[in-house]
Amino acid sequence: MKKHRLQGIILKQIEYSESSLVLRFLSKEFGAISILAKGVRKQAEKIQFTNLHEYDMGLSEPKESGLWLYIDHDLLANYSTYPNPATWAAAECGMELISQMITSSDEHAPIYELAKSYLDYLKRVDSNAILIFWRFFIRMLRLGGVGSRLDSCCVCHKSLDNFEVIDLQHGGLLCSSCRQDNSNHENQQKLSELSSQVLRLMPEIAYHLSEIRLSRREVAEINLLLERYWDSHHKQTLKLKSLSVLCQFYA
Ligand SMILES: [Zn+2]
Repeated sequence: MKKHRLQGIILKQIEYSESSLVLRFLSKEFGAISILAKGVRKQAEKIQFTNLHEYDMGLSEPKESGLWLYIDHDLLANYSTYPNPATWAAAECGMELISQMITSSDEHAPIYELAKSYLDYLKRVDSNAILIFWRFFIRMLRLGGVGSRLDSCCVCHKSLDNFEVIDLQHGGLLCSSCRQDNSNHENQQKLSELSSQVLRLMPEIAYHLSEIRLSRREVAEINLLLERYWDSHHKQTLKLKSLSVLCQFYA
């Protein structure tokens, strides 16, 4: 049986039978994979893994089951410690997003690097981590080569003259002239002034973390835009459980 060493981050652990675990593992080489760690829960010296830690894993290749088999591990880095629960929730959201993406083999390494730099960046974010999550979301979709630009009109693709109206059908923002188009009206949603400002500032949002005061309205509006943006580029609907946790920090 061929042995591999894969570098990756544990996203999730599921108890399997009396004594085993299935690990959901974001690997640099193969993207998200599942690992069967046999017997690790019953041994005298129980082996424990921690979510959002990076490991160098010794594994043998999957057979019919599609599960890689755990052999051994070394701990590389800890990405699970954050200044507050909201920032931790943003980290979880980012990893859940990745686990829902269908990616091709040439994207695994860049996605892995982006994920690590996201988690690393969040360690220093003590307010408004959701803004960094949104930036990560947009970067991830662009990286996958599926995302059109969010700073151009989703209908005519011209550079946006404002960031005021979402087109729910096309999953993007509308320019002033496309807004006038009557056939489109029932799918348009006007954004709050602050939502527009946040979207306009998105490329440099990291410099504005301490000054922006988001309310539930902005959080709902921008999440809606990003969900529609995702839906327009993927075949399945995006449903992030951890995003509802993150949203609870914005009243
Ligand atoms: Zn337009």
